[in-house]
Amino acid sequence: MRDKTKLGALTPLSSLKGVGPKLYDRLSAFGLTTVEDVLFHFPLRYQDRTRVTPISSLKEGLDAVVHGEVRLASVVPGRRPSLVVKVADTSGLLTLRFFHFRRAQVNQFKPGTPIALFGQARPGRQGGEMIHPEYRLGDGQGFLENALTPIYPTAEGLGQGLWRKLTDQALQILTNNPPADLLAPVQASSQNLSDAIRYLHRPPPDAPVDQIREWQHPAQQRLSLEELIAHHLSLQALRDKERALNAPLIESNPRLCNDFLSTLPFKPTQAQQRVIGEIMGDLSQQTPMLRLVQGDVGSGKTLVAAMSAVAAIASGYQVAMMAPTELLAEQHLRNFRGWLEPLGVKVAWLSGKVRGQARANTIDTIANGTAQLVVGTHALFQEGVIFNNLSLVIIDEQHRFGVHQRLALTEKASSAGYPHQLVLTATPIPRTLSMVAYADLDNSVIDELPPGRTPVKTSLVDSDRRQDVIRRVGLACREGRQAYWVCTLIEESDNLNAQAAEATAELLASELPDVNIGLIHGRLSSQEKEEVMIRFANGEVSLLVATTVIEVGVDVPNASLMIIENPERLGLAQLHQLRGRVGRGSTESFCVLLYQQPLSAIGRERLSVLRESNDGFFIAEEDLRLRGAGELLGTRQTGAATFRVAQLPEHEFLLDEVQEIAGKLLDQHPEVCDALIDRWTGERQAFARV
Ligand code: ADP
Ligand code: MG
Repeated sequence: MRDKTKLGALTPLSSLKGVGPKLYDRLSAFGLTTVEDVLFHFPLRYQDRTRVTPISSLKEGLDAVVHGEVRLASVVPGRRPSLVVKVADTSGLLTLRFFHFRRAQVNQFKPGTPIALFGQARPGRQGGEMIHPEYRLGDGQGFLENALTPIYPTAEGLGQGLWRKLTDQALQILTNNPPADLLAPVQASSQNLSDAIRYLHRPPPDAPVDQIREWQHPAQQRLSLEELIAHHLSLQALRDKERALNAPLIESNPRLCNDFLSTLPFKPTQAQQRVIGEIMGDLSQQTPMLRLVQGDVGSGKTLVAAMSAVAAIASGYQVAMMAPTELLAEQHLRNFRGWLEPLGVKVAWLSGKVRGQARANTIDTIANGTAQLVVGTHALFQEGVIFNNLSLVIIDEQHRFGVHQRLALTEKASSAGYPHQLVLTATPIPRTLSMVAYADLDNSVIDELPPGRTPVKTSLVDSDRRQDVIRRVGLACREGRQAYWVCTLIEESDNLNAQAAEATAELLASELPDVNIGLIHGRLSSQEKEEVMIRFANGEVSLLVATTVIEVGVDVPNASLMIIENPERLGLAQLHQLRGRVGRGSTESFCVLLYQQPLSAIGRERLSVLRESNDGFFIAEEDLRLRGAGELLGTRQTGAATFRVAQLPEHEFLLDEVQEIAGKLLDQHPEVCDALIDRWTGERQAFARV
């Protein structure tokens, strides 16, 4: 018989009303199997539909209900026609914009018709506007609710209504069967756990909206504290587990290192030398290294990786180098071949696109140890790839990989032991975040750029002035400079992005017939990509139209001009990455952020950060401040778990307490630690932020 107090929380979801086998399977695929899992599936945010906001009091970026009357509706022609509707209340005038609409819809907006709206206002060309608001015609009363509306993180096909039903039932069960307060053994919580859970799912009608929006409500803080403790404990556990393993001993080999360095056209910077020293110190231990190397774009992380690889190979072991994209992996391959093959090192290549006999051959050389260095994408760590004596795994651009992907490495341990891990990231991680999200890694920072770099000059240009920009690019190319033209789309779709880049390349080709234009995007084969990159690298192509595939690590020092379209759609860290593709040589470099009007105040502030600063660490802090942790950790791309309640930097002030309580729990109540980790981190997949 189960412990009575846990009965309700641990009841399987299949016993809830409306959860049939199909739905149960879907939910459990996301890691939700019990009532407790639903209780801890918290709203991401809330909509305030509790009151009507006068048009004149609308605040940028905040959801609001508006009641008014249609004044005017018209279709604005253009490349992409839009439906514009003017709505008035007694306080002012608001513009609605619809980019997707049917003709029949236009006629519904008859002047004088009462209209209720729900949406987010932003500043437009003529006063405030809402893009695609929810609306109801003939009804000046709609959309009002008496409490904040919770919006749950979700996945396709699981609507908000479903989450409401599930949480309704779970909250009912909670009343008689509260989940255990796991912090109780070391800390008397100021907030009762069940009350806090209930509050977040169903804020009462009088809830302090602003406080909740700013994540400062005591209920949010109570749960955030617990969540941060759980994350801290899970990283600690991971680290302890890894540290208990045996790793191959790699001796530093000064002669070989010097041989290698003497082949380079430059000397390592002080910072590179220091970090190499830190790595060598780790490698000569018999516990596995777990080290994160942070260095701004262009700081020379590749060299640091190569030195580590040389040391491991000299000790008779294999090294794997993994990059998040084919393009970047291919570039590493070229670099490492150029650097290491002259020293007699055998370098192999493995990506998802290596198939058939070629794959079989490569896998053989990895298994029998002929391949000393294997460069590739995550295909390196798929089943069937068996290393002979892997000693060191180098992972470039960590923010693209989740902890779980990193853990897949443990399976590649051989008789040589568990491999050392070196993780490189060009997206500096703000200290707050690294304490929470990377607490399992030691840190090295390359805080110096190689000499002779001139900072990139960045400007913000309205896309109305596209023609000027094209002219400027043409002039630069004719003077022998090289440029990137980066196309971005919101959709994370290779196809659409590729189409956008193709269209832009065509346009630029017709405007600049005398300029050699290349095109690169994710739909090209790796061979095609490599060909284009080589032609760009050797100057045959002067203007490279690209998608964000070039974001990470691409290195063509002669390129000194970059145009980024729709920069407002990207995060600052990502923009900084992109911009890092220029300014790598000694010529003065420029980056033009070709933004689309209207730009919100926050949007402008964000882009200005980039204009003012070339310092990746500063930019990352600002990105965190303006966007929040989930986005920064790149959870969208990786699907890695993100926080459910905790917010950074808003809850930074909890971190000391987090460490203190976690320490006490580990010492005095280790049995609670597992329960906490399970409750908050589990095997849960990320849900989309909506
Ligand atoms: P990132 O840290 O962004 O990965 P890379 O490793 O690609 O940077 O290095 C950027 C460029 O700087 C490369 O062309 C590399 O060869 C060069 N580089 C690296 N270290 C030095 C150094 N110590 N002095 C001069 N150039 C260097
Ligand atoms: Mg790099």
